[in-house]
Amino acid sequence: MTQTPLAVLERVFGYHSFRGQQEAIIQTLVSGQDALVLMPTGGGKSLCYQLPALVRDGTAVVISPLIALMQDQVDALQALGVKAGYLNSAQDRAAQQATEDALLDGSLKLLYVAPERLNQPRMMQLLTRVKLALFAIDEAHCVSQWGHDFRADYLQLGVLAEVFPQVPRIALTATADLRTREEIAERLQLTHAARFISSFDRPNIQYRIGLKQQARQQMLRFLQQEHPGDAGVIYCLSRAKVDDTAAWLQQQGIKALPYHAGLPQDMRRDHQQRFLREDGIVMVATIAFGMGIDKPDVRFVMHLDLPKSIEGYYQETGRAGRDGEPATALMLYGVEDIVKLRQMLEQSPADDTHKRRERHRLDAMLGLCEITSCRRHALLRYFGEDSPEQCGACDTCLTPPTTWDATESVRKALSCVYRTGQRFGVNHLVDVLRGGNTEKIRQFGHQNLSTYGIGSDLTANTWRSVFRQLVARGLLSVDVDGFGALHLTEDCRPLLRGETTIALREDASEPAPRRRATPV
Ligand code: ADP
Ligand code: ZN
Repeated sequence: MTQTPLAVLERVFGYHSFRGQQEAIIQTLVSGQDALVLMPTGGGKSLCYQLPALVRDGTAVVISPLIALMQDQVDALQALGVKAGYLNSAQDRAAQQATEDALLDGSLKLLYVAPERLNQPRMMQLLTRVKLALFAIDEAHCVSQWGHDFRADYLQLGVLAEVFPQVPRIALTATADLRTREEIAERLQLTHAARFISSFDRPNIQYRIGLKQQARQQMLRFLQQEHPGDAGVIYCLSRAKVDDTAAWLQQQGIKALPYHAGLPQDMRRDHQQRFLREDGIVMVATIAFGMGIDKPDVRFVMHLDLPKSIEGYYQETGRAGRDGEPATALMLYGVEDIVKLRQMLEQSPADDTHKRRERHRLDAMLGLCEITSCRRHALLRYFGEDSPEQCGACDTCLTPPTTWDATESVRKALSCVYRTGQRFGVNHLVDVLRGGNTEKIRQFGHQNLSTYGIGSDLTANTWRSVFRQLVARGLLSVDVDGFGALHLTEDCRPLLRGETTIALREDASEPAPRRRATPV
């Protein structure tokens, strides 16, 4: 007895309506046609194949490159009472055998497999012996040789079209610019497939990125003046900061709760439940919070620390305003954030390729912080989407930042880094430039340097802003040893030789005032 997709949505998943293009995508598959889906992370891609898997006869095969995610999805499905399993290299023989048996006797509704597994002749053999509902190729951009995540095993997946011409296929990704999109279609033999391209734009979210000055006061003002009584999430980088910030906010009379992976399980569950059920809870959390949380009326997401990538920033801010009503995404950052993230990255045990990729991602994030043009436009362009040059609803559109010719000051700053031996962090450099009289300056004899006191014309804050922007733009690099010493990079040369000029952003002392974003 077949049920309508909506009935299955309610009965199995417990949701009452489809999101975005889900329904059209599901219809396409249910009717036996192929689909190519571009949808932002958190948009609800999984349902696009999980639901047709339940409506159609046979087993759906989901190709997924990430073993950890595979396990999560299968656990989640089993918790919903859906018979699902996976096959990957991390499993022992017995577990594999059990899954294969379930596949062969037709009791599995969904089978998750790693791409390399699917390419084994034995696996293909196995699949020809069972009734298949559909193929879902998740993270389809892995087929693109130009992308970050290329996987040779994905190239073979085009063969599915030839071996199983009757089985509908769906390819899904959250990251694909135009070229990658074409590449996916071509290589996976989906050029004829129906395309569902969701916009990444969240028009009701106002994006603001401000300078961290007195973070707690800025946060409190933001909560009290712009979002009194609203539910929201405040993201911090570390567990300790989550605990401190939540406790401090509680003292200020804000209904704040902490959430991070270091808290006892029952406390986490309790805080999450309160956030979902009570009005106006402010969740102070690490990024451990948010996955799978579906609360429509989150009115703001605040970042007290810089996210590691634009993908992360987009995903976290995307938890605001799911109901389409105006919401704010406010981030505060300062030079220390950059230094800290750079150090964490360099000190991580990851291999070089991985680090290089992470570095690029962080640089892109910093770029978004420092731009003087529209944030939304830049954000969407990062995801390969065209949009108007100005959105009219981000801080740079509402209060366009001014720039100043900083060539002279930048030369002073760079020269100060050089003269002090590229061994010092921002605070000391600023002291030297402004002619300070500190213990450290006397200890190193820095009062005798030619750069001592040559920057007394600018305030300490302005100098910090100069250094922050130089680091963000890659003119200075941060030492990895833990002290945050700054070094000159190759890119400084033209400036030091007087061949180029440089304009820097004038820091607004406050984030732009909130004006309502107009939902389109
Ligand atoms: P993606 O794979 O696109 O990143 P997911 O499939 O993980 O997104 O879905 C993101 C979240 O949205 C999940 O918590 C999921 O349960 C939820 N979700 C998906 N579709 C719906 C819907 N129609 N109604 C309510 N919640 C949904
Ligand atoms: Zn804008």
